[in-house]
Amino acid sequence: MCPTCSASLTCKDIRAAGRFPCPVCKALLRASEYYPLLTLVVSLSLVAVVFVALGFRGVRLFDALLWSVIPVIYYLAAHFFKYLILPQIEPFEPGLTRRSLY
Ligand SMILES: [Zn+2]
Repeated sequence: MCPTCSASLTCKDIRAAGRFPCPVCKALLRASEYYPLLTLVVSLSLVAVVFVALGFRGVRLFDALLWSVIPVIYYLAAHFFKYLILPQIEPFEPGLTRRSLY
């Protein structure tokens, strides 16, 4: 739901990382800060379960996970995770980002 105009947002409107505009009032919104990390951790855990099921163990499992980090981030986490767990939506306020404090 858009915090500015209360319009309901669909999964297609929401981006897991970065800002995106509300389709109704065009206010800039973003998923809460922890969400990209949460998607990565949960996605990697799921991938690890799949690799273990395929017979990967120990160093080979670690190696396979390392190689899967990039496709997992760009594909799973960015495009599919939001359908499983909807992120908390916040208004995007550039003045409140940590970088602007320095
Ligand atoms: Zn809105």
